[in-house]
Amino acid sequence: MKVIDIHSHFFPKTWPSLQDKFGGNDWPWLKHLPNDGTGLDKAMLMKGEQAFRPIYSACWDAEVRLQQMEEQGVDQQLISATPILFAYQKPVEQALYCAQIFNDAALDICAQGQGRLFAMAQVPLQDPDAACVEASRAMASGHVGVQIGNHVGNKNMDDEGIVTFLQHCASENISVLVHPWDMLGGERMPKYMLKWLVAMPAETQLSIMSLILSGAFERISKDLKICFAHGGGSFAFQIGRVDNAWNHRDIVREDCPNLPSSYTDRFFVDSAVFSDESLQLLTNIMGNDRVMLGSDSPFPLGEQRVGTLVREHQQLSTSSKSKILGENAMSFFGL
Ligand SMILES: [Zn+2]
Repeated sequence: MKVIDIHSHFFPKTWPSLQDKFGGNDWPWLKHLPNDGTGLDKAMLMKGEQAFRPIYSACWDAEVRLQQMEEQGVDQQLISATPILFAYQKPVEQALYCAQIFNDAALDICAQGQGRLFAMAQVPLQDPDAACVEASRAMASGHVGVQIGNHVGNKNMDDEGIVTFLQHCASENISVLVHPWDMLGGERMPKYMLKWLVAMPAETQLSIMSLILSGAFERISKDLKICFAHGGGSFAFQIGRVDNAWNHRDIVREDCPNLPSSYTDRFFVDSAVFSDESLQLLTNIMGNDRVMLGSDSPFPLGEQRVGTLVREHQQLSTSSKSKILGENAMSFFGL
């Protein structure tokens, strides 16, 4: 049974100072911390002068990552940037520069991965034309797909430019992972990581609903391979509510000709839901062919022992587990 983790993140160990290059005080950089002798090298991810998140060497050191994969029985892992590196809010030239340096850095890490690490590229999604060009460049240089943030400012996934980008991906067989970021309602969630716990799942549900209810899935080629992180966020648990609304309110049906739940054959989700009951519901809604192992490692909110939720699930059959753990990813990413 091949085990492929499609959702994990990397940071290069260093990169050129974006603040020096572009000005502004909100660029990401790594402050490496002195090793206190208690284990792996650590760093603080900074956003300007603010501490954003503690990380450690599995983010940049392929050897450390491979060691963990070995211990956890993971055969292959896909690495992608963290949305803080996207620079969607910046001028397109700056976002393109970020995409190029981080995409190339991801390939450098994969080159040390003994054939077990693969990368997904980032693109300057605020400019669909530039995003298409960088996606194609990245694929030609060795990436196996792209990862995009789930919105650009106030533009949701049904934005014409984003739909154009998705159509480009469909036509060039570029697989897409959608990752939530820049969470809505953040001003009401200053504490307890509520932005990650409440708003992030809502962001992903919003993205899926915007593609379904706008009729975008009717316009986008069925060749598009698109996957949503974190099990699709709140989507699976709330799809009954949406179907009910579609049945009873014409303003919900306005641009969406088919029952919302019928569109679950148009996208995939990862398995990062962290409970047996949630994974059961997710596979019931999506089917076993449309869920792929995703850990969100090596972050504290990720699955600490990658694949355990799927492997130890009491109800899923061996063949279902095999699909979720690896087979679905093999066909989705052409691995
Ligand atoms: Zn993630």
